[in-house]
Amino acid sequence: MSETDICQRFLINDRGLRGQWTLLEASYQTVLAKHDYPLEIQGLLGELLAASILLSATLKFEGTLSIQARGEGTINLLSVECTHDHTVRAIARWQGDTRGQSFRELLGKAILAITITPSQGERYQGIVPLDGDTVAQCLEHYFQSSEQLKTQIQLFHGNNRAGGLLLQALPGTGGSLEGAEQVLHGQSYEEQQEARAEEWHRVAGLAATLSAEELLNLDCNTVLYRLFHEEKVQVFAPEMVRFHCTCSRQRTANALEQIGREELDSILAERGKVDVTCQFCNEHYVFDPVDVAMLFAAGNPQADSSIN
Ligand SMILES: [Zn+2]
Repeated sequence: MSETDICQRFLINDRGLRGQWTLLEASYQTVLAKHDYPLEIQGLLGELLAASILLSATLKFEGTLSIQARGEGTINLLSVECTHDHTVRAIARWQGDTRGQSFRELLGKAILAITITPSQGERYQGIVPLDGDTVAQCLEHYFQSSEQLKTQIQLFHGNNRAGGLLLQALPGTGGSLEGAEQVLHGQSYEEQQEARAEEWHRVAGLAATLSAEELLNLDCNTVLYRLFHEEKVQVFAPEMVRFHCTCSRQRTANALEQIGREELDSILAERGKVDVTCQFCNEHYVFDPVDVAMLFAAGNPQADSSIN
């Protein structure tokens, strides 16, 4: 397996501290190749892509996790998506010159939205004001304000790569990942809480010594050994990350049906065809008058059946 475009989960000291590591190259470069992004946006998209993998991997769900920053600065939108099987795609919209602008100048007054769209069941969305000087800081604030889970996130980009490390204290007292109670003889509840807080402080302090150079150039095991060699670390098997756009002709057709026949007919009258381009991957989907008529003839009970 290659050393990039993977993510790996790990546990520390069996005591409810979990982590995620990821390092991207080909998947990140594929995202960047779709549009002519300024350097500043390339970096932000890389860090957000890494973040989407770190976050989606900590959640048990089937579906899509998206992170969106909507701003009023030079950048209007940063949007990344990651599926439960680690396929990613991303898009940015901006206007004007991004050169020399800080993170805050780029995004201005902005909101950060994290949305989980499960394959089945209800969509969950958390929205907070974008608060911080880096993507990582903003996400940490998100967790502080909405999830109440102690979370440390470090994100880096450079040399065509992007990656990150996430550390999170699991809820509950002495719970393992599976939620089993761990009985610590001779310790009161308060003492256990204090021990957990101390452990978090120590391990998060070790993790904070991670440098961009280390994360972007070393494999997961080497990074974890450098940071936590005095802790007991359990590392899980690496999982692959790849670029994949979920758009399709059928999905585009569904979206066109929502727009409605009248609107589509007026586009057809003007241009002779309806031309839809996927913002994430640049794929073109062209619907001529017959295609559009078929949309409304096929499954729609109110379809105009005159073409049959
Ligand atoms: Zn697409």
